Amino acid sequence: MMTARQTSSHFPRAITGMAAEQPPARIVIFIGAPGSGKGTQSSLLSSRYDIPCISTGMILRDEAKKNTPVGFRLRQTMASGALVDDQTVCDAVVSRIRDSYEQGKASLILDGFPRTVSQAKRLNDELKALGIPGPLVIHLDVPDHVLLQRLARRRQCATCGAVYNLASKTSKNGARCQFDGGALVERDDDSEGVVARRLTSYRRETLPVIEYFRKNDSANGIYRRIDGNLEATAIASEVCDLMRFADTAMAA
Ligand code: ADP
Repeated sequence: MMTARQTSSHFPRAITGMAAEQPPARIVIFIGAPGSGKGTQSSLLSSRYDIPCISTGMILRDEAKKNTPVGFRLRQTMASGALVDDQTVCDAVVSRIRDSYEQGKASLILDGFPRTVSQAKRLNDELKALGIPGPLVIHLDVPDHVLLQRLARRRQCATCGAVYNLASKTSKNGARCQFDGGALVERDDDSEGVVARRLTSYRRETLPVIEYFRKNDSANGIYRRIDGNLEATAIASEVCDLMRFADTAMAA
């Protein structure tokens, strides 16, 4: 249903101030609750290592804007806080992984996928079929009260989707997006009732995925939990340590 394309980062390298490093050939998965910082860390890592990032949330939001039956269905599902069906999401992600692989890029960052055990199994099958090693799974663990606070303060550029927090200087007093001047708006699914439903979906559908990866450690890649309640830069630095660790583990 969706054309193959990769979603780019909202943190241009000039903004992050980091130079591109040699990309290691692997899939990196950021997994965590809504508001845990998956998008922020994916963008930072994507800029630093020059690895493309696939964000299922962004792909689905783009698709939901279209005036088509699929767009209408996606709008309804996402606005309710429920997960989109596995088939739709898997087809979209798998086609992008294949495209990227065919273009000679085996490394990818996945933000927001897999979110159900069935999606994790489909990914596993796909990576095996392509001969791509097991993923580096980074679990961003954040307490519920912090998630709720972050989501209530989150704003997004209506034009480019860059993410802001009302607590920071750049987004106060009717500020506009620093990249393109777009208005900063609340995401439809960040309202209180919808957030509660998203957290319920996370506990029911995605915590088992974390368990799936945790148990498969070494046989199916590497799983690590990171304290997601730190400064974004401190987390990014831990992520880079993990990338180096994964390089060494793969070479051994
Ligand atoms: P968050 O992680 O903060 O919930 P995202 O932007 O990643 O936000 O996702 C927004 C919405 O897109 C989700 O609430 C869900 O409806 C849908 N979605 C994203 N990724 C998936 C997925 N892997 N499987 C099913 N639905 C998804």
